[in-house]
Amino acid sequence: MEMSDSLIGGITRLKDPANIVTSPRRLEELQDKISACMTKLFQKPGNGGNPFLFTLCGPKSHYLATELGGGHKLETAATDGKSFFWNPDFLEALDSSEVVTTMFHEGNHVLFFHCDKERCAGRDKERWNVAADYVSNSVIERHHQRANEEARSMGKSLPKLWGLKKFGEPILLKELLDWIDGKLDKMHGEDNKDICTGYSDPACIDRSPESVYEEIQLHEQNSPRKCQACGALSIDPKTKLSKFGPAPYAPGCCPKCGCPPQSGRCYPGSSPDEHMDPSLTKDQVMGEMMRAAESAEAIGRGMVPAEIEAALAELKRPTLSARDIIVNAFQRRCIDVRTPPPVHLREGRRWQLHPKAQGVPPQEV
Ligand SMILES: [Zn+2]
Ligand SMILES: [Zn+2]
Repeated sequence: MEMSDSLIGGITRLKDPANIVTSPRRLEELQDKISACMTKLFQKPGNGGNPFLFTLCGPKSHYLATELGGGHKLETAATDGKSFFWNPDFLEALDSSEVVTTMFHEGNHVLFFHCDKERCAGRDKERWNVAADYVSNSVIERHHQRANEEARSMGKSLPKLWGLKKFGEPILLKELLDWIDGKLDKMHGEDNKDICTGYSDPACIDRSPESVYEEIQLHEQNSPRKCQACGALSIDPKTKLSKFGPAPYAPGCCPKCGCPPQSGRCYPGSSPDEHMDPSLTKDQVMGEMMRAAESAEAIGRGMVPAEIEAALAELKRPTLSARDIIVNAFQRRCIDVRTPPPVHLREGRRWQLHPKAQGVPPQEV
């Protein structure tokens, strides 16, 4: 095993603070699943790894959970940027590469600020989640494509991304829009509740969730599936009947189509995760992003997502190093909270502190 001690020391084992899993053996199996995922991530992309993601997710806490607080149920997986949460049944149902895909998917939401409150404000949460999933998964698709090229150069091939065990073949954006328009009668996987049919489309690469959101919204406006009372896509475009059967409906349901409140907008797919409010600030995410990019580079097994490289390039100015930008960001935070910054100087071999940023304690950098 080539892992350095520091990286091994940084990995935490899956915990079960709420004692959800009663059998010690089952807990151990689930723990092994997360640990195996980390070992896999540490490898070269051509071997199914993702050192960038490894550095990002390895040191975080992983917990078993069936609730996310406030009575909000967790049936899949979730992250707030600081910790990862796994529903034990969902984790059990995943194949080892699907665990990696889920972690990657969730990590992208954090890195690209998909769950930023300001961004989602005033938008339909469910539609936003679908749009964010398209963007997150397009990054995974591109990584998989590049990793596969590397694998082929080593005479190997990687397992496919979807259709392995729990995740079905995903819904392309074009398919979703056709379905909304009533051009597609039935979506694949719609009736199979054991399979998670997600939203993924390589064509969504380089798009923002905002643009995908607006495209979906535009199609929904004139959708023959749309209930005129609640807006859910609950009407069969051919028969004009509701998928919830004929009235009368239970109290709390839409009086016109019978859509129960928990059914939401009735999109045909499902997400591999719950989208939580982030508990990391933008500066913290940016700091983690840079550290992970530098570590991946240092391990010599790069393949940092192109979007991250683009974000970093944007941040880097000729006179400032990546570290300087982080340091400056932290310094700004110090100023924001009006704490007089303590004086620390750090002689870095590679990361010379920016002269303006001397006030930041090294442990913060
Ligand atoms: Zn998601
Ligand atoms: Zn309705």
